[in-house]
Order: sequence, then C-alpha cells, then structure tokens
Amino acid sequence: MKAEHYVGGVFRADGPTFPLITPVDGAEAGSVPEATREVVDDAVAAARAALAGPWGATPAEERAAALRRIADGIQERFEEFVDAEAADTGKPRELAATVDIPRAIGNFRAYADLLYARPERAYTTQIPGWSTGTGQALNYTVRRPLGVVAIISPWNLPLLLLTWKVAPALAAGNAVVAKPSEETPSTATLLAQVIDAAGLPAGAFNLVHGHGADAAGEFLTGHPGVDAIAFTGESATGAAIMRNAADHVTPVSFELGGKNPALVFADADLDAAVEGTVRSSFTHSGQICLCTERVYVERPVFEEFVSRLGERARALDGYGPMISAQHRDKVLSYYRLAREEGATFVAGGGAPSFGDERDGGFHVEPTVITGLPETARTVREEVFGPICHVAPFDTEDEALRLANDSPYGLASTVWTRDLSRAHRVAPRIETGIVWVNCWNLRDLRTPFGGVKASGIGREGGEYSLDFFSEPVNVCIQI
Ligand code: NAD
Repeated sequence: MKAEHYVGGVFRADGPTFPLITPVDGAEAGSVPEATREVVDDAVAAARAALAGPWGATPAEERAAALRRIADGIQERFEEFVDAEAADTGKPRELAATVDIPRAIGNFRAYADLLYARPERAYTTQIPGWSTGTGQALNYTVRRPLGVVAIISPWNLPLLLLTWKVAPALAAGNAVVAKPSEETPSTATLLAQVIDAAGLPAGAFNLVHGHGADAAGEFLTGHPGVDAIAFTGESATGAAIMRNAADHVTPVSFELGGKNPALVFADADLDAAVEGTVRSSFTHSGQICLCTERVYVERPVFEEFVSRLGERARALDGYGPMISAQHRDKVLSYYRLAREEGATFVAGGGAPSFGDERDGGFHVEPTVITGLPETARTVREEVFGPICHVAPFDTEDEALRLANDSPYGLASTVWTRDLSRAHRVAPRIETGIVWVNCWNLRDLRTPFGGVKASGIGREGGEYSLDFFSEPVNVCIQI
C-alpha cells in the first residue's frame, strides 16, 4: 500500500517520507510522505478554491448522491479496505470486516439519508413583531457551510473515525482537508481514491499525511485559511490544538480521551455483566476510546465478578497488538506503575510470548487488577490498553461518586435488572454516553461525545451537521 497525499484532485507523494511499521510483527510495510507546510498550504488553497467553484455550487441532493457513490465505492473495494485497516492497526481482520469498514460505509449512507430528509435544513418561524410594534415578521433560518474544515483523526479506528467527520462535513457543503494518524495512513489513501473515482469536484476533499506536533497536524490546525477543526484524539493533543487555533478563534469539535467506568449492581445478570465487561475492556486490546478501564462492583457479587472476569481475561487469545512499540511501552509502564502502587494482578500484567513472528510485534496481556485506592494514577489516568481496575462499592450513591470522580467523562456502562435504578442512575453519571446492560450499541442519529476533559460538542446525526454549518437567520418585516 503506497500512501499518497490528495490535493486539489491530484495524488502526490513529494517531500520527505517516514516508514510504516506493521504492529503485528514490527516489520516495515512501506513508506509514507510527510506533508510539508507547502503541501498543507496547497491543500487549504485547493479547498478554498473548491468552495468558490463547482463544489460550492453543488446542491444538497447532489451532495447526498455523491456521499452514496462514496459508500458504494468503499463497498466495492471492501476486502482491500479490510486488509489495509488490519495491516495498519494489527487488529483482527474480523474486527475490521465487521466494525470499521461497514461503519465507514454506514457513515456516508447515514448523512446522505439525513440530507434527503431535510435538504437545506431550513427552519421557518413566524414571530409577531411586538418588540418593534411594526406588525408581523417572517423569520427563516438557513444553514451555511463553515468553509474549509480541518479533520484530524487517530489510529485506533482509522477509517471509521475519519469518515464519521468527513461525511457530515461534506454533507453540509464544506471543503475538507483531512490528516489521518501517521500510524495508519492506508485506508485514508484508499478513501481518497474512492472519492476521486466518485467524481467529487477537485478540492472538495483533500488528504495530507504526516505527524502532529511541529508537523502537518500543527500546520493545518494553526492555518489562517481553516474555518473549523474537528479532532479526535488525546485530551492533551486537544489542548495543544486549541492553543494553536486560538489565534484565529477557529471553532473546534473535540472527541478526546476517557477513563470510562462500569457500574455492576448485585441485581445484574452476572453472565451478561462479565461478558459485557470482557468486550468493553478488551475489544481491540482496549484501544477504543469507549473502553472500560474502571469497574465498580456491588460488594455481594464483587468476589465472584472478579474471579470470573479474571478467568475470561486469562483465556483470551487472538487479540491484536498495541499500535506501536512506543504505545506498548507506555501500556507496560502502567502495568509496572500499578505494581508499584500496590495492585493485585488477577490476570495478565506483562507482555505475552508466542514463540513465533508475533514476538516481534507489540502485544500486551489482557490485564485485570484490584486493590488500588481511587487516588492511584493507574485508576485516574487513561492507559488506552487492555487493563481494568475492579473495586467494590456498597451503595448507589457511592457508586455514582466513584464513577464521577474523574477528570474524564466520555462513556459509562450500567449493569442492573432494576429498571428504576437504571433510570435513576444513568442521568446522574457525568459522561456523555451511558449504556445500560450493553456497550457500544450505536445509533448514528444519537449525540456522541464526552463531557469534562473528554471533549467539546457532540457528533452524530444532526449534531454533526449543526457543528459543520452556521445558522443564518433572515428576518423579513411583513
Ligand atoms: P493523538 O492525540 O496522539 O493523535 C491524534 C491525531 O492528532 C493524529 O493524527 C496526530 O498526528 C495528531 N496530532 C498530534 N499532535 C498534534 C498537534 N500538536 N497538532 C495537530 N495534530 C496533532 O491520539 P492517538 O494516540 O492517535 O489516539 C488515541 C487517543 O484518542 C486516546 O486518548 C483516545 O481516548 C482518543 N480517542 C477518542 C475518541 C472519542 O471519540 N472521544 C475516539 C478515538 C480515540
């Protein structure tokens, strides 16, 4: 797979390059061009030109049709996309084939559907003119695209999270300059090929590859020609981008990190709670922003839950690696820290040895720990690996206090059979998303995002369209 920039409708790979490393075995899989400031300038200029040209004049129904052609184009090259995503991330092929690539297709279809439902998202209100005493006024509100939007995405769900922003940004009529993670450039390149084949006007979608700090990401987010920034990644990176964007007061939409709690009440279906927590803590080796890293279990079922979760974690096989040697080292450093902080290891705690080529890769063991105080760094900081800390609680109020005592607030999970408890507890958890007796069950129309250090704004359905457009009110005196 040869990664290329896509600027103004032209593929190019000029400038310096860096190696692409396969996380499964550590082998070099190719090289990636590093976008210089000039490449980023060209991409922003191409996007601006597209808005002044045919793309800016493309009506909503044609944009919707273009989104459908992109969805079809990904579908036609489905296996290629799956292979590229699995190779870049090291995630099991099955996961890419059932989650990442179908959701990317779904993202384009969902926003095409939304556009058909409400083409220009115009709202009309008739307001009596009592404030002016001059009779009636007709007010109507139209939505205008923001202009050139920068989209910066992470490596964990590369195509899914990139298209989760690209689809609504294009739907709303913006021109896009996207920068995927330097670790996972391949499916973004394939997407550019699909968009090219779908016949979008040149410059409507542009892609630049490269690193973040002091590189393409920073050039793009500090660019005076960028009208808005949509970013998914670490909270610390979000803060850096915000500082960089402050000079131009560029609006931001942020999906950031988490330290997600699960609350398991004694009345829960324990089989479902254990299996659900195995999924929520260990899917993609814990490298999903929604993954559970803190589990609070009501005391009567605590021992049984810990023992069953530990057993399931020890039995897991076929799990994928960490994205990079650097990230593997970070996760292992938290395993060491947990030991120093006095944790009891119920499962895992190190790097596995397979006795084959995977030992050159970046695997770590699924890990379950107990016994740490809430002040421990391992309990407070996002690890972004396959580890969860399990602690007991005695009352509903205590469970809520523990769940909410975090700088983060992305997603939470509640396991209970008591309907009243579910309704009572869910709205009091300080996270943007609460799942009851399930995890990561998604309806693309619902608001998605975090509170506190987990983000700014919401994505999904009309929430994304609202971010990617400006409401303009027109008032006519009658
Ligand atoms: P990251 O913040 O290191 O990188 C994300 C992207 O930002 C990459 O494309 C990177 O090149 C770019 N970047 C880095 N520094 C930059 C800078 N100074 N200016 C501009 N761009 C810069 O995140 P990651 O390691 O790729 O992803 C993991 C993190 O993402 C975790 O914290 C995880 O919780 C979070 N995440 C959140 C969500 C969500 O929806 N809330 C989803 C997935 C991942």
